[in-house]
Amino acid sequence: MIDPWSSAVLDYEKLIEQFGIKPFKDMMGNIKDPHILMKRGIIFGQRDYGRIVKAMREKSDFAVVSGMMPSGKMHIGHKMIVDQLVWYQTKGADIYIPIADMESYSARDIDFEESRKLAVSEYITNYIALGLDFTKKNVHTYLQSENKVVQNLAYLLGRKVNLNEMKAIYGFGGSTNVSHLYVPLVQVADILHPQLEECGGPKPTVVPVGPDQDPHIRLTRDIAERFKSKFNFIAPSSTYHRFITGLTGDKMSSSKPKTAIFLSDSPEVAEKKVKSAKTGGRESLDEQKKLGGVPEDCAVYEMLLYHLVQSDEDLKEIYSNCKNGTVMCGECKNKASSMMKKFFEDISQRREKAGDLAEKILAKD
Ligand code: SF4
Repeated sequence: MIDPWSSAVLDYEKLIEQFGIKPFKDMMGNIKDPHILMKRGIIFGQRDYGRIVKAMREKSDFAVVSGMMPSGKMHIGHKMIVDQLVWYQTKGADIYIPIADMESYSARDIDFEESRKLAVSEYITNYIALGLDFTKKNVHTYLQSENKVVQNLAYLLGRKVNLNEMKAIYGFGGSTNVSHLYVPLVQVADILHPQLEECGGPKPTVVPVGPDQDPHIRLTRDIAERFKSKFNFIAPSSTYHRFITGLTGDKMSSSKPKTAIFLSDSPEVAEKKVKSAKTGGRESLDEQKKLGGVPEDCAVYEMLLYHLVQSDEDLKEIYSNCKNGTVMCGECKNKASSMMKKFFEDISQRREKAGDLAEKILAKD
């Protein structure tokens, strides 16, 4: 069982085997200009992604759904989702961004007004700063608590889901509050509603997620099948990306500030945090010169791999210099922290400019 509300580190190979997630690399030959996260194996799994590849190739309608639960601050791991949305925007996707204020309320006791404020100041502001163009007509952003189409669909879909099934998928027990029990159905409706007639009818839809969100995907695909005769839903596709390792070596998590570099950190703080990150270096310089470092076990290398180095050639050089012991962690960290500082200087300027537009996106009429 995977608990989508916990932050345990997962074994990716096991997931592929156990839950029938297919390797993403099988798709690579068919994708024109794949995203860097795809090329580098950070997006490692998929379900039914062939439909999306076909839609992109034929330039036919398809949708991407990626929700955000406003419950804390965005960190650089969350950036991966936005990077993918920006890429899908260039591929002509309809982009749906549900703001999961109902989930925040039931799972974290955050009220709707607080969620709205967080969504604007933290999430939408960062999404704009990271390059998503909200002024395009094909970007649909909404609060779950205000979307009657989604709420009505969730209620309709709930008719064919029972309590035992929810317990089996999510491990809900006797103490789970009833609002929380209902929230997965709202998320199912978030994912399926772009296929309603009023939203353009059935179409391939992809949900890019971390593997901890797979229970929602499996439930959504099952429900889409159960309601196929009524709505003609196409089971949604999904992709799965690895989590970024936190500064301490655990998964990066907003609820554990010591693990995370937040997008709202100042450039100086971000720089300092990179310097404090756990590396795959050896116990002594002599040992590292002799044996080389372990980039596969290094939070700094992950930052370079996921975010900071765009050129594959440059990345290969960093990797081999580490492996053969010609570069030591101190020098490598200095370079990575300067790159991170530069990235944060850019993003903080763009965040400042993004504020007004972010306010307008969720403004009440
Ligand atoms: Fe990580 Fe760089 Fe040290 Fe290698 S040299 S372990 S990549 S910090």
